[in-house]
Amino acid sequence: MTQTPAPAGRAVLVTGGNRGIGLAIARSFAMAGDRVVVTTRSGEAPEGLQAVPCEVTDTASVDAAFAAAEDLLGGPVEILVANAGITKDQLLMRMSDAEFDDVVDTNLAGAFRCARRASKGMIRLRRGRMIFVSSVVGLYGSPGQANYAASKAALVGLARSISRELGGRGITANVVAPGFIDTDMTAALPEERRTAYLSSIPAGRFAAPEEVAAAVRFLASPEAAYITGAVLPVDGGLGMGH
Ligand code: NDP
Repeated sequence: MTQTPAPAGRAVLVTGGNRGIGLAIARSFAMAGDRVVVTTRSGEAPEGLQAVPCEVTDTASVDAAFAAAEDLLGGPVEILVANAGITKDQLLMRMSDAEFDDVVDTNLAGAFRCARRASKGMIRLRRGRMIFVSSVVGLYGSPGQANYAASKAALVGLARSISRELGGRGITANVVAPGFIDTDMTAALPEERRTAYLSSIPAGRFAAPEEVAAAVRFLASPEAAYITGAVLPVDGGLGMGH
């Protein structure tokens, strides 16, 4: 009797994988031999990667993206990297309900929608890794980012609750908390803020997206099977004491 060989590598889904940190994470898993699908809002795939369209603020879109990704991957998602995120900075007094809600809906509820859908396949497999891309400001705070910092801090509660709920089923849920990474998001910062941030980072530099990818891959590795509910900073020492 002939048996269909198991597909090589693990099945990975990275949200917001068309640019920045998400793209670096996706490329790093692909380079290591894993099967990777990224979500993009346009549905267009970055060079060398497979993509499915996904708007993380829309439950139906998230569910459809997982179904399409599972088709491409040939099975359930084993590693979810919830990376998609936005900022809408504003001082507290001036922050509109929409600015607050949009950021929380994308960064927190978007990650929740993906984790909920991913859990179905992971529970069936009795293994899985969820990695949530938070931020140093989630626990450090940041003026003008009440919405963003709140959404990123809440990912810790989300990951820790998932750890307690699904830990017995071989599923881990961890948070990576990047500091300042050279991407479109930080390129949008005014020059004086970039300089001020730089002077407060012990490492004395911003990081490359690949440095976040390395931490994510570690949390997804077999060596990290006993790490769950953790917050792993990749911030050059900026948030020490979290
Ligand atoms: P970018 O702005 O470069 O990329 C953000 C990604 O998220 C894009 O792929 C974007 O898609 C996607 N996205 C945004 N909103 C949605 C949505 N509603 N539905 C689906 N996808 C969406 O950001 P970075 O690469 O810098 O950041 C990635 C993650 O890392 C974010 O969660 C961010 O908060 C976090 N982070 C970044 C830091 C940094 O210094 N850069 C520091 C700490 C954390 P599209 O291209 O269509 O807009």
